[in-house]
Amino acid sequence: MSPQLKNSFLEELCEIIELISPSMDDYLYVIDLENDFYYISHQAAERFALENNAFHNMIENFNKFVYPDDMPKLENDILMLMAGERVTHDMLYRWISKEGEPIWINCRGQVIKEMGKPMYMVGCINEVGTRQIADNNSGLLGEAGLKEFLGTEKAAQEGYLLRLGIDDLKGINARLGLEYGDMILRKTAECISECILPGQKLYRILGDEYMVLDFQGGSTQEAYELYRRIRQRVERFVTDNNYEVVFTLSGGLIEYSSIEDVSYANVMKFTEFALDEAKRQGRNSCYLFQQEDYEKFLKRRELVLRLRQAVNNNFEGFEVFYQPLFSVNHDMLYGAEALMRFQTEEMGMVSPAEFIPILEETGLIIPAGRWVLHQALKTCRDFKKYIPDFHMNINISNIQIMKSNIGGEILEAIKEYEILPSQLTIELTESGLLESDYRFTNIWSQLKSAGVQLALDDFGTGYSNFRYITELQPDIIKIDRIFTVKALENEFEYELLSLFSKMAHELKLKICIEGIESEEEKEIIFQLVPDFIQGYYFGRPCYYEQFEEQFLKEHDFEA
Ligand code: C2E
Ligand code: CA
Ligand code: CA
Repeated sequence: MSPQLKNSFLEELCEIIELISPSMDDYLYVIDLENDFYYISHQAAERFALENNAFHNMIENFNKFVYPDDMPKLENDILMLMAGERVTHDMLYRWISKEGEPIWINCRGQVIKEMGKPMYMVGCINEVGTRQIADNNSGLLGEAGLKEFLGTEKAAQEGYLLRLGIDDLKGINARLGLEYGDMILRKTAECISECILPGQKLYRILGDEYMVLDFQGGSTQEAYELYRRIRQRVERFVTDNNYEVVFTLSGGLIEYSSIEDVSYANVMKFTEFALDEAKRQGRNSCYLFQQEDYEKFLKRRELVLRLRQAVNNNFEGFEVFYQPLFSVNHDMLYGAEALMRFQTEEMGMVSPAEFIPILEETGLIIPAGRWVLHQALKTCRDFKKYIPDFHMNINISNIQIMKSNIGGEILEAIKEYEILPSQLTIELTESGLLESDYRFTNIWSQLKSAGVQLALDDFGTGYSNFRYITELQPDIIKIDRIFTVKALENEFEYELLSLFSKMAHELKLKICIEGIESEEEKEIIFQLVPDFIQGYYFGRPCYYEQFEEQFLKEHDFEA
């Protein structure tokens, strides 16, 4: 038992595993998804290349005993389980034995949720021995047959592979029982068999998937037609079956010619991606494999992994940059906007445009945003020695508003770092307002009444609605660089911005114009009498130390 374990529920599960394990051939395991902790019966550590039967950092440790070809698929599944995108795990793949041999195992598991949040997964691993040659249920050849065929010369000819998957067989099994599910698998196999052309081959692969092989020069067009025929055939089955169950099929399509290495492992990897992509695109459709999409997918998956690791690893790789904000009226430094950065050894510096949306989608923006809040307020406290009322602007994402107690956290952090509420400006974008969720308005008024300044960010990027401005009365409106650039290039846009600034001033709101890059731009923009300005011309976002050197130390500011 790991000494790090404090959680009693988890402890109990681990004890049960150890009690039952001696009387079975299978290996039981439990995963603490929240703390990235894995526990498996100790028999597994005797059989496979595991150093220990209990460990943190699952993905890093799995790399030591999971067969490398199978790792991406597993990693993807783990990420989805952690993110709550999936609640069951059912995967046939290979572990490496103590002797270094790949061993096929079937791993199944079920996620346990608490208050809707994935907390644990419990499951069982069994060795499947030699792989399935044929499927008794559908009467088709199984994956081993496919593997054998792909190794032959015939397979290397022109043609395509179409991987078909039943959309939501799990749901059918859950609603109508496993026997009914088996019937659907059989019927689907029959439907596909009726549609394929003579000479094409059909295999049943894992769970609810089939593979059609065309190695006689079939074109992509013909593959799409085949998919449509199969779909219609399945629809007919559904009708004939009096709609007792309604289901669809998705297809992942690959042309042989588009992949260099037609090995079994590659074919499985690419067709799996293609089928998943079809499902991601809304199911009941067919997706043709594109190398660029696959690379994007790999990059994104790696980024998700790195971001998660960084969050779990004390935010290593994250950084806060500071960009100066100047007050035009007082012709002096007003403060800084805190901007998140992320870099890794493997990926270098990643653009916020790329990683912020991923942080939002995965919910990791909540811990990462909290970390930025604390870093930035600490910095604000440090910089008070140069400018007593140094201001800090912090971006808050709508996800933080919807899914965490960000209002309370901000107010507590202000106390912790001994900052006046008015020294902090929270930047929010209008997009969250569109849903006009009560949380948004609640937090807005909570912060406003505490004296925190609020800025409406990215004004002019699309959502802009004047009604919000009168309703919300932000302290500052930040004009996005998109609007600024348009105004610099186009007279009408300039007039619009000018009128808007006047109107905002009438309403006693302050304007901050972002994205000024040159002296010339500055001259034109200053005619609009903005209150604050921000842009590369005045200073780029930079490290704390650099900011201190460049904007604080050398300047004598009057207190
Ligand atoms: P934003 O809030 O609109 O931040 C201003 C962006 O404009 C920054 O991009 C900044 O580097 C860039 N910028 C400033 N002056 C100029 C200029 O003169 N020319 C040009 N071309 N760009 C300029 P950055 O740092 O890449 O951040 C992009 C976006 O990522 C931010 O846009 C913000 O929406 C988001 N973001 C950054 N940090 C955080 C954070 O801590 N939390 C959240 N929720 N979002 C963040
Ligand atoms: Ca901003
Ligand atoms: Ca902005």
